[in-house]
Amino acid sequence: MTHFDFAEFRRHFPALRPDDSPPLCYLDSAATALTPQAVIDATVNYYQNAGATVHRSQHKAAQSLTERYELARSQVGDFIGAPRAEDIVWTRGTTESINLVAQSYLRPRLQPGDEIIVSQAEHHANLVPWLMLAEQCQAKVVTLPLNAEYLPDISALPARLNSRTRLLAISQMSNVTGAQPDIANAVSLCHANGTPVLVDGAQGVVHENVDVKAMNIDFYAFSGHKLYGPTGIGVLYGKTELLASMAPWHGGGKMLTETTMQQFTPQQVPHRFEAGTPNIAGVLGLAAAVEWLHSIDRIAAEAHSAQLAATAESALSKLPGFRSFRRGSSSILAFDIAGIHHSDIIALLAEKGVALRAGQHCAQPLTEALGVSGTLRASFAPYNTLQDVERLIDGVNFAVDLLSD
Ligand code: PMP
Repeated sequence: MTHFDFAEFRRHFPALRPDDSPPLCYLDSAATALTPQAVIDATVNYYQNAGATVHRSQHKAAQSLTERYELARSQVGDFIGAPRAEDIVWTRGTTESINLVAQSYLRPRLQPGDEIIVSQAEHHANLVPWLMLAEQCQAKVVTLPLNAEYLPDISALPARLNSRTRLLAISQMSNVTGAQPDIANAVSLCHANGTPVLVDGAQGVVHENVDVKAMNIDFYAFSGHKLYGPTGIGVLYGKTELLASMAPWHGGGKMLTETTMQQFTPQQVPHRFEAGTPNIAGVLGLAAAVEWLHSIDRIAAEAHSAQLAATAESALSKLPGFRSFRRGSSSILAFDIAGIHHSDIIALLAEKGVALRAGQHCAQPLTEALGVSGTLRASFAPYNTLQDVERLIDGVNFAVDLLSD
């Protein structure tokens, strides 16, 4: 595909069965994306044909599978601009990647009274691990507040950075508003203070071309399943010297070079962080996803999804009480209708077969900052169509008619 052809794009997704009536109206891609055939094939192929595990057995199938598995590490590393394949650690997802940094990087460095800055826009995955760590070490989580645009207020960062600051945790893109803070500015302010930065890329990696080296990011976390890959596989990128300075978090098979009954010697990076038999099908599926993404004009695809979100936003804005929390040219449209509870609307939308999500989207502090108890979130992907937008609009209109006094 040299130009973006969304009808052709849809054909990659078997869940979008052309003969279904009505067709699947899937507006929940920020929660998890649909899976393209190329990724399904890669995972099925592993279970059907591989007959082996990795980094353990000596037979031929195991050796060639180990090579493919390590090639996947380079492919995924290249996708985000990691300088070396060894800078990529396989995890179960963004959540586990962040917990790994909290427990393996920060915990040994944290003294009572030290500070971790966390933006108020974070998903719970990039807040709770820091709260847990702060409790474990008598450290403090310091809030980076939001500005009027619901973006983490980078101009408030200098006043919060000090000699006790040990890390900034911030997401590249909010899973509620779609807002994207100025990460480059945040990184340079933090680095001037000697503070490393962890970027939660769970949403950002889907919508942006990421270059962790150019962005000078210390740690970058993302999940496979939002990037058209399988569930249960994710990535932690860390700068070589940071990963090398970290002790393992999980202990078990293949994360060590030798052990006695008294002590063990950890493996090199990244294997020391990958105890136990890994998610091989997940790794191969994620590599297939990034390979498949290379054949997509991602800028045009993104423009298509953002245009659908804008169209839905402008049509819904005619409803009395409609408030949009969409920021920038995001393909995520979070909204509410004043006076009608989001869970009442979502129940009626579900009955009409319109798949989206309502609630706090695992971002309670952000939702509170928006001044609402929850929002409805329609998240668009390049496989969505104008018909999907129309079904959303019809569904919301129907719900509002029924639920208004
Ligand atoms: N951060 C953000 C911004 C997210 O949107 C999500 C997923 N909703 C996560 C972290 C957590 O990702 P996972 O559940 O795949 O670990």
